[in-house]
Amino acid sequence: MIASDMLFVVAAALIDDRGRVLLQQRPPGKPMAGLWEFPGGKVEPGERPEAALARELHEELGISLDPSGLKPLAFASEPLEGRHLLLLLYTLRAWEGEPAAHHATALRWVTPAEMRGMAMPPADVPLVEALAGV
Ligand code: C5P
Repeated sequence: MIASDMLFVVAAALIDDRGRVLLQQRPPGKPMAGLWEFPGGKVEPGERPEAALARELHEELGISLDPSGLKPLAFASEPLEGRHLLLLLYTLRAWEGEPAAHHATALRWVTPAEMRGMAMPPADVPLVEALAGV
């Protein structure tokens, strides 16, 4: 039995052929509006995390992908509104379609060094260091 106060969130670092990573800016009206995050979202009950991430990336960016291309990289554990957020970060180097901001205010391709100066949700911040070595 998984604790019901655990919130499972999956996110992806899309990496382009220049080693840059895609971040999206959370829109107004959502918690943590304006912050730059790795695209992703909640895992629904019964869903495999990689399938949840493929679904979220299709909804948020309009891209399609083979879930076997999602490689686990790192995770972060953070308190969130009285719950426990577990954020699982995967890398992705191949997908179909051009990422577009379907939900986000903006998209930006950045190097891991540039990412360090950007305002990100607390769970995303520690994951930046894991990207420096990929
Ligand atoms: O995007 P959505 O609001 O569905 O995400 C669910 C929760 O996961 C939110 O509370 C959001 O702050 C968090 N999240 C995060 N970092 C991400 C994606 C989502 O902290 N990269």
